[in-house]
Amino acid sequence: MNISNSEQLHKQAQQHIVGGVNSPSRAYKGVGGGTPIYMERGQGAYFWDVDGNKYIDFLAAYGPIITGHAHPHITEAITKAAHNGVLYGTPTALENKFAKMLKDAIPSLEKVRFVNSGTEAVMTTIRVARAYTKRNKIIKFAGCYHGHSDPVLVQAGSGPATLGTPDSAGVPQAIAQDVITVPFNDIDAYKEAISQWGDEVAAVLVEPIVGNFGIVEPKPGFLEQVNELTHGAGALVIYDEVITAFRFTYGSAQQILNIEPDMTAMGKIIGGGLPIGAYGGRKDIMEQVAPLGPAYQAGTMAGNPASMSAGIACLEVLNQEGVYQRMDRLGAKLEQGILAYAREYGLPVTINRLIGALTVYFSEREVENYQDAENTDGEMFAKFFKLILQEGINLAPSKYEAWFLTTEHSEADIDQTLDAVKKAFAAMSQ
Ligand code: PLP
Repeated sequence: MNISNSEQLHKQAQQHIVGGVNSPSRAYKGVGGGTPIYMERGQGAYFWDVDGNKYIDFLAAYGPIITGHAHPHITEAITKAAHNGVLYGTPTALENKFAKMLKDAIPSLEKVRFVNSGTEAVMTTIRVARAYTKRNKIIKFAGCYHGHSDPVLVQAGSGPATLGTPDSAGVPQAIAQDVITVPFNDIDAYKEAISQWGDEVAAVLVEPIVGNFGIVEPKPGFLEQVNELTHGAGALVIYDEVITAFRFTYGSAQQILNIEPDMTAMGKIIGGGLPIGAYGGRKDIMEQVAPLGPAYQAGTMAGNPASMSAGIACLEVLNQEGVYQRMDRLGAKLEQGILAYAREYGLPVTINRLIGALTVYFSEREVENYQDAENTDGEMFAKFFKLILQEGINLAPSKYEAWFLTTEHSEADIDQTLDAVKKAFAAMSQ
């Protein structure tokens, strides 16, 4: 495959943009380096790169592009918004309409507020929880990514429930000291954290279905116990649904799991591909936020007409009959096909899948938490990633990420993908 134009652009990028990329995961570091492919055009389930190569896309921009690239309904909405002026700095009727759509789809959202990214949404839920409870500590689960604000760039020390150490230079130790990290799906570790620090904890931050060390579902009863223990300690439960909102159903993971948090952070899909974040939850908690309450949060771009229009249009597409059933059917076909070829070529593969999102781990063992995901074979994944890219299949360049199906993938796309998987596995088994 000729990627000379990508190589040229990547040389230029490194002169102008730090590391050549505007988000580190795009740099192929997770797959042993190489030149990231520079895409030029996306349409439906496909990408074309700057050298004219065509790809079936399962990256979906790390989740948001659930209706495929340049979906006509969303494109029309964005075009209309552009003609009417993209930013007003005043309230608009679009914000009311979209807020009501989110509330109707996710009943725990008594009040919402729009921001510009998932990072902002999560960061603000933490501030609001601290304002409401007048406590500082946060509990989170190892390996879950919640954006790049200071309190969530903290990792666990050693031990099942530990106070954190900064995960990034520039995060003060004083902030890390207020963050407790426990393994996901380990209720004993959670109990230990609550019994040790419960009366200082403002909130627990949870990806109810994890998307950041692959797709990992909670064990039966785990989230129920987390809710009970957290509320028992007088703290709040925040669900980070930046990946999961509208990914598996028209609504959130909360409905699938039949459980409600006190607050929810969202992003990605709800922007229809434009920058967005939103947070919401119980009215009495949300009323902590300015201008009603003492917790400050603001945004020049927040609730802008272009993002609102794209988000509304995206949800309209997702609210059509059979959308998620179709992604589920194609997801199952992909999962079963990959597992069958793994068996045929004697490769250790485990797949976690829910509806149209799946992670292919090179491991014989099940993946239930971050440690399990870390133990899967990264070198094998890197080989697979590069082989399948050569066959025109675009995945996220990391063993921890999911493949995302869209409303636009077809049976034929899945068949072509499975042919590519077969070729890659055959090469890997040599
Ligand atoms: N929360 C989760 C669960 C995420 O996966 C991400 C991004 O991948 C974020 C928060 C941060 O969102 P953003 O990249 O829009 O700031």
